Amino acid sequence: MKELFALMAGLALALGASAETYDTIIRGGRIVDGSGNPAYFADIAVQDGKIVKIGHLTDSARTVIDASHLVVAPGFIDVHTHADDVADHPRAENFIRMGVTTIVVGNCGGSKLDIGGLFKVIESNGVTVNVASLIGHNTVREAAMGGVYDRPPTETEMAKMKSLVNQGMQDGAVGLSTGLIYLPGVYAKTDEIVDLARVIAPYQGIYTSHMRHEDERIYSALDEVIRVAREAGVRAEVSHIKLSGENAWGQADQVLAYIEKARADGLDITQDQYAYTASSTTLRQLIPDEAFANGDGKFLQYLSDPDHKARMVQEMKATLHKRHRQDYAYAVIADYPHDPTLDGLDIVQAARKRQHSDSLDAQIETIFEIETNGSGNGVFHGMDEADLQKFMQHPNTMIACDSGIRVFGEGVPHPRGYGNNARVLGRYVRDLRVLRLEDAIRKMTSLPANTFQFADRGELRVGNWADIVVFDPGKVLDEATYTDPHHYPIGIPDVLVNGQVVLKDGELTTARPGQALRHRS
Ligand SMILES: [Zn+2]
Repeated sequence: MKELFALMAGLALALGASAETYDTIIRGGRIVDGSGNPAYFADIAVQDGKIVKIGHLTDSARTVIDASHLVVAPGFIDVHTHADDVADHPRAENFIRMGVTTIVVGNCGGSKLDIGGLFKVIESNGVTVNVASLIGHNTVREAAMGGVYDRPPTETEMAKMKSLVNQGMQDGAVGLSTGLIYLPGVYAKTDEIVDLARVIAPYQGIYTSHMRHEDERIYSALDEVIRVAREAGVRAEVSHIKLSGENAWGQADQVLAYIEKARADGLDITQDQYAYTASSTTLRQLIPDEAFANGDGKFLQYLSDPDHKARMVQEMKATLHKRHRQDYAYAVIADYPHDPTLDGLDIVQAARKRQHSDSLDAQIETIFEIETNGSGNGVFHGMDEADLQKFMQHPNTMIACDSGIRVFGEGVPHPRGYGNNARVLGRYVRDLRVLRLEDAIRKMTSLPANTFQFADRGELRVGNWADIVVFDPGKVLDEATYTDPHHYPIGIPDVLVNGQVVLKDGELTTARPGQALRHRS
């Protein structure tokens, strides 16, 4: 009898507890849910890729992540990346280790022409991160206009561009991007951009812009973004907002007020930013655009003609002078495949090495030499920390790194590709107290999810995809520097993408759960 009782009690316990078994439970963490609301303590259960329970959970799970003393947040969404080759680098390790679980590619006017093809490759290869893409204006302009860009498109070319943008949207692009300092977009008039933005309007696409100017002429560049948003009836995003060059410093408040004014007038304009006072782009940007108006051939032709060359040199000196700069010390060679021994040197140092002189003429000669030998990327020191912090504190600014996939150890690239999110959480939240933790997380999660319309992501809620990052708020920090960038951040032990653990105790797993995020209007 006694034995029967014990048996029944045992059965009742087994039945009564009816402990469910989940794929994963993250236990005891401080939940910063992405909304900006205050953190709270809870466990999170994950099943079949989704968040299925949040609360005090006694259930069991196949994988348990102990998050006591750690913060649990939605996976970070980076809306401004150049990781268009993610299918070739499916680990996307620099993003995962920053806590980034969703990336938007196709920025600054440059994308895959075939967005549908990109998504298919991502789905068949498998990648760690979720990937969305914009369709790039420079990409379609190049495809439609052939080699000569310093002109408006013909009617036929314009029709071709529209149809390419439309195809991109049909294939699931989230919107249209421009890069108006780059070829061939630099020669596009605003009318052309408005016409193309009209194509994305019925799809509820977003227009993102690396604007024509980021220096003291920024207001005219903002006017152009505002005009596109108004006339095409689209949302707009100012990419990597910044004030570049001393002449423009100290105007962050005015710039933000300018955008606020447009919002008050009924437009939806937001912005993203990386947490560094140096930018990065091709070294070609140091040379007058005109030399490349009709493709690379013209530059070489200019270089071999003394008159044309002298004119280029004159223009470059004038530009430096206007910017109150004595030399090119602000420009550092990030990667120059032709001669990697120059990587990490600024142009003055490189001139000393290559031309045995650091005169301005020798510096310009070095810039020409680099371009002649296939060009390279640079890091350009030109922003003010006070402006950066003001932009960061604005509630509509999201955190985005503007980086591509980093190949560990290659070149001396901008550190933002390794450190951006960790730098915000370590330096700007914990050390400088520029942001509340909850606000910083919101800028990396629900704000980008809402702006780019990623349904079911960006917040820790039951029913959402389980993109989750676990980090130590007391330790998280970027370790990548300008001179020594190849370091992953510390203090981010665990990352889940679509419910699968891609980073476990600081080790990358073999899981490739990333999805192609096709935009649905
Ligand atoms: Zn850009």
